Amino acid sequence: MKRVLITGAAGFLGSHLCDRFIKDGYHVIGMDNLITGRLKNIEHLFKLEHFEFYNHDVSKFIHVPGKLDYILHFASPASPIDYLKIPIQTLKVGSLGVHNCLGLAKAKGARVLIASTSEVYGDPTVHPQPEEYWGNVNPVGPRGVYDEAKRFQEAITMAYHNFHGVETRIVRIFNTYGPKMRLNDGRVLPAFIGQALRGEDLTVFGDGSQTRSFCFVDDLVEGIVRLLKSNYPYPVNIGNPSEITISQFAEEIIQLTGTTQKVIYKDLPVDDPKQRQPDITKAKEILGWEPKVNRSEGLKLTYDYFKSLSQEELMETDHYNFDKYIIK
Ligand code: UDP
Repeated sequence: MKRVLITGAAGFLGSHLCDRFIKDGYHVIGMDNLITGRLKNIEHLFKLEHFEFYNHDVSKFIHVPGKLDYILHFASPASPIDYLKIPIQTLKVGSLGVHNCLGLAKAKGARVLIASTSEVYGDPTVHPQPEEYWGNVNPVGPRGVYDEAKRFQEAITMAYHNFHGVETRIVRIFNTYGPKMRLNDGRVLPAFIGQALRGEDLTVFGDGSQTRSFCFVDDLVEGIVRLLKSNYPYPVNIGNPSEITISQFAEEIIQLTGTTQKVIYKDLPVDDPKQRQPDITKAKEILGWEPKVNRSEGLKLTYDYFKSLSQEELMETDHYNFDKYIIK
């Protein structure tokens, strides 16, 4: 039986990966320090013989007994509000955390896949973004802690590959959505759906002309599994190229939820990328992958999940002071 370690196992993507590898017959070892992850996402797995969980910070020394075939490093705060709120942990998990994963991989002869991000392209001047584009990142802006950690993470991963011969894979993940996202993580989709469900106005930042391209989580997971099993060690974009402005997206959420609330405009956060769309030529050619779930199907599945949350979970919104991070 193959054994896989998944860091960030209790987070949005980590928990979906745990489900997928359990379904595929692996022994899954989850690790999370639960800063932004939630046990609720993986609680159903605890009764299984082939699931283990370590409540541990991957930025500190990690050891896992026994053999390991794969390590997937998905631990990291991943929304702009999260990494502004916990910037040092964000930097540590993308640097010390990945170093520990690579060291463990070297010791065990395991293959490592690390979760990188479209944020490595910063506020891109090339559109759509191919893997060859080096990006336009502000290292000292509010997003710098995340963007530079992820860029460092890619660099050290390539160094372990080139210098130590560790088998490495790098996925550049574009905006992804689906069930198990945290309602109050500040990202646009849970923000809008939460607002609709609570009967609040939808907050569009800036004039709403900035674009994003949203990928449903099941498509992303399939792309990640294919990349892990491929023999391609360089970064690969995984995302859905269907691009939309944030204003249009707010309208779609209004249609979906039937809310009678309106859109209100707030100031745009600093360094908020103006446009983002993955060039997925490589994923198509190398992995034979492309997204299958369109936005209306994916949004419906996601909305069903959010509707099933308790009133208590729905009201848990004053966690963050969004305005603190928005420059006038
Ligand atoms: N956004 C918005 N209203 C919100 C939250 C986000 O208009 O309540 C915008 C945000 O400014 C950005 C886009 O939605 O332009 C996507 O934001 P998100 O935080 O989801 O991810 P990003 O792609 O910026 O990392």
